[in-house]
Amino acid sequence: MTDDFPKSTVLGYPRIGPQRELKRALEGYWAGRIDRDALAATGRQLRAETWRRLAELGLEGLPSNTFSLYDHVLDAAVAVDAVPDRFRDAADPYFAMARGTDDVPALRMTKWFDTNYHYIVPEIGPKTRFRPVPDKMLDEVHEARTLGHETRPVLVGPVTFLHGHLGRLDDLLDVYGELLRSLADAGVEWVQLDEPVAVVDGGAPAIRHAYRRLAALQRRPKLLVASYFGRAEDALPALAVAPVDGVAIDLTHGVPENLQLFAGRTIVGGVVSGRNVWRTDFDAARALLAAAGATSVSTSCSLLHVPYTLRGESGLPDGLAFAEEKVAEVVALAALGSKPGPLPTRPLPTRALDMDTRRPYAERVAAQADLGLPPLPVTTIGSFPQTGELRKARTSLSQASAGQSQTPPGHGSFGQAEYEARIEAEIARVIGEQEALGLDVLVHGEPERNDMVQYFAEHLDGFAVSRNGWVQSYGSRCTRPPILHGDVRRRGPITVRWAKFAQSLTARPVKGMLTGPVTIVAWSFVRPDRALPDVTLQVAEAVREEVRDLEAAGIRIIQVDEPALRELLPLDRRRQEEYLQWAVAAYRRATGGAADGTQIHTHLCYSEASAVLEAIDALDADVTSIEAARSGFAITAFARGIGPGVYDIHSPRIPDRDEIAGRLRAALRVIPAERLWVNPDCGLKTRTYDEVRAALANVVAAAHAARESL
Ligand code: GLN
Ligand code: ZN
Repeated sequence: MTDDFPKSTVLGYPRIGPQRELKRALEGYWAGRIDRDALAATGRQLRAETWRRLAELGLEGLPSNTFSLYDHVLDAAVAVDAVPDRFRDAADPYFAMARGTDDVPALRMTKWFDTNYHYIVPEIGPKTRFRPVPDKMLDEVHEARTLGHETRPVLVGPVTFLHGHLGRLDDLLDVYGELLRSLADAGVEWVQLDEPVAVVDGGAPAIRHAYRRLAALQRRPKLLVASYFGRAEDALPALAVAPVDGVAIDLTHGVPENLQLFAGRTIVGGVVSGRNVWRTDFDAARALLAAAGATSVSTSCSLLHVPYTLRGESGLPDGLAFAEEKVAEVVALAALGSKPGPLPTRPLPTRALDMDTRRPYAERVAAQADLGLPPLPVTTIGSFPQTGELRKARTSLSQASAGQSQTPPGHGSFGQAEYEARIEAEIARVIGEQEALGLDVLVHGEPERNDMVQYFAEHLDGFAVSRNGWVQSYGSRCTRPPILHGDVRRRGPITVRWAKFAQSLTARPVKGMLTGPVTIVAWSFVRPDRALPDVTLQVAEAVREEVRDLEAAGIRIIQVDEPALRELLPLDRRRQEEYLQWAVAAYRRATGGAADGTQIHTHLCYSEASAVLEAIDALDADVTSIEAARSGFAITAFARGIGPGVYDIHSPRIPDRDEIAGRLRAALRVIPAERLWVNPDCGLKTRTYDEVRAALANVVAAAHAARESL
């Protein structure tokens, strides 16, 4: 029975909309401009359009339930009714869990494995009552049928869903059993259960147990278990004895040696990468499919992580494939068509990893004493609210400037002077706001940046930027990851002009704001023939030059953000040490040229930072700000300055003064006052000025009170 699974499929598809229609609908709904029905209608249209397009491209196996209004893991929580009681009375419990309300903070959010996609972490406790709620899955199946498509619902698998709460596995499996029965009753032939946790060490026993039970169900669709983002060797024997009907394997990480355990069953070979934007080398892909004994062709993971299409783009390098083009590749490979050959390779020379060393922290502290900072200095992470007007000004400017990828936006083009005047006005406003609020270390607010990575990519050689290559980051938020295809070089100072202007307006120190080399690389699509360590060191060199120029312009505090440090950490433990070594070396190359008297800050967020604490220490920054309020990061002793975030900026909720004071007291139990900084979890660009003013006023008040009781 290996011939009944469609010959070609994808594990999932982007859902934000080719023109970000979902983003606009969501934001309209949250702002009260449209109602729930209008939002639902947008969702319906996007699903219909996706199925239509996939079918038109010749794809045989269409997935459903890969659409989500916010997040597919949150959808899975709803499907098993794992809705904490405190959200049940909210006007809209789904978005209350995702974003919080005035009364309740949102659920935790963190990165989906080693991607830049953020999911809502289900809150599971001993008392969580699971109950089957198959409505969304069934609705999508029926909706597709009325459009003439038979689909394969996709659901996060039970082991990945529980991640860490395996004590509840049996209760959850009862409910998955009922969900599967509902799907079978609806005539669904195959269901896809996503278990990326299968590539992480130690997942096998739970997988064996779960799939033995699910496979033994009397009434269920055929089970396709999908593993991705790494090699599933350890989990395959567990799945083979289960016995599930098929597996989808990420072959971009190689062919698992024990895949022959599935001989005679469906093996869906994921050879078209869902993680990069380069076209597939068909010969190599065919060899992988043959070695794997694959019976169907697919993407390595969901295409959620790549933009929709190259149609409408211009000026991008050759050899690219976005989601639609990847679907065409899957179809061509399944039809045994021949086409693209390998990309011509142009690897970079490998460079030695010398660790740049600054003078010891204690000596630097002395050299920085003249900054004259009070104890528990209050600062922010960099960005201030980006108003609609600012965005419009930037867009009209970049439209006016020709050849997006060649010229930095606006250079020499019409409107440049006016644009710069607007940015300066915005900087002046941000400086004024911060002085009025009583912050100690100010920022210029990043009004000139569309995005912390894209902005730098646009000012460096070696990167191309797409017009419409949006990728969902979380909820309605998207980024347009730059495409790193050539040698990276800084054309000239990038941020200096704005930092200098900001500093000229105030007597308080203004923090220069740069994105670190690891994050620039992590949030770009890097040519597959370029080794990450080498590329990252090239970027580090450019950042180092910028640090030097900021210093020369009189900037005494420079923050080099590395929010992606944790994200690039390989899931495979055996490869982690090597990664951390080059990542830390790149950061130190970027910052190690700074004078003793220059205070280097870094910032990390969204991540379970505890996993990389040693590496954070090795970055040797003078001050580290780190997300703590939302991710529940437990503050531990730290040898340098540290600012554990005192409130979650991802939610519109305003933290009150007592709550912040409580966090400061807790931090002071582990961190000596002279090393504790006070700051939010992350940048403020997604918030409104009203929210920011209210929240920061409470932060400053709490810090002042804490200062007095020192
Ligand atoms: N400096 C950036 C900002 O404030 C940092 C953003 C981030 O960590 N993702 O927006
Ligand atoms: Zn952050």
